[in-house]
Amino acid sequence: MIRFENVTKNYTTDKTAVNQISLNIKDGEFFVFIGPSGCGKTTTLKMINRLIPLTTGTIYINEKRISDYDIHELRWDIGYVLQQIALFPHMTIEENIAIVPELKKWDKDKIHARVTELLEMVGLDPEIYRHRKPKELSGGEQQRVGVVRALAADPSIILMDEPFSALDPISRQKLQQDIHALQKKIKKTIVFVTHDMQEAVALGDRICLMQDGQIVQCDTPENILQHPANEFVRNFVESGNLQTNPVLTSNHTVQELLDAELYLPYREGDGETAVSVQSPLELLVKRLAYEHTVPIENQQGEMIAIVSGQHVMRFLAAQLEEGGGHS
Ligand code: ADP
Ligand code: MG
Repeated sequence: MIRFENVTKNYTTDKTAVNQISLNIKDGEFFVFIGPSGCGKTTTLKMINRLIPLTTGTIYINEKRISDYDIHELRWDIGYVLQQIALFPHMTIEENIAIVPELKKWDKDKIHARVTELLEMVGLDPEIYRHRKPKELSGGEQQRVGVVRALAADPSIILMDEPFSALDPISRQKLQQDIHALQKKIKKTIVFVTHDMQEAVALGDRICLMQDGQIVQCDTPENILQHPANEFVRNFVESGNLQTNPVLTSNHTVQELLDAELYLPYREGDGETAVSVQSPLELLVKRLAYEHTVPIENQQGEMIAIVSGQHVMRFLAAQLEEGGGHS
């Protein structure tokens, strides 16, 4: 668990970047910091691994103050992924991934096996990619390497600062799905910074919305969307395009989406795949069998909601209950 206790950061005496924040991030949680540029997200994230020293307050990891950890122990046990992929250009992909395992003095065979496993995890053929240099990879591929490099030495916490914001929308969505699936599998604590509300909703177990160095609301995506704490949150949510329409949170809105047939057509094979013979619900369930979240678009191709398996399960559970109640 990561615990912030009244944490403040002043870069200069007259400017408070982070102001008295207190919060708990649970083990295995996907925790998202979001807010406008300059609100203090990066500063908050970097204080966790002591890349930035805090001014007052305390951060604990597993109830031990971060200042009491050996700095190397702390850094090596916290993976870190940045927006600008910081792969070393003169090193191969294998060497890039192996940096922390090397520092930890793992033996060669173990490192080789780990690199193979990690590249496979993100769909990069190890025998092709391990010997390549970063510039021989696309932006999306480099970012995948950036992500698995952070996982290489099996840290329990991973910090990610706008890791996908430099990517094109398609790579970005693919990587979002990958990281979501990965986290469910490896159950790491991920602290993720973004300024994109859609991304926050798609990924976060909880979302912490910041403004001027303070926490405005920290809650599940559902609660933030359904019960914004104030006007600022409401506006922020709306700026993310998730507003007006059913952001998928209740059975009612799932029903609305199904009724309105606001579907991203099933894009597989020739693209015409039997849309007409499948009900919207079948289509949705099929997509969710392979993807963790499905974006729903309107006729104009604008994303208006993100559906997760959990939403659909809740919807189905409610239908079952209704049916049961009458029998
Ligand atoms: P965000 O990541 O949310 O965009 P930051 O944490 O980077 O915000 O910055 C928070 C505030 O602290 C901003 O006002 C920024 O200008 C200021 N700031 C960030 N880094 C420094 C620095 N090294 N020196 C002085 N001020 C800084
Ligand atoms: Mg930042």
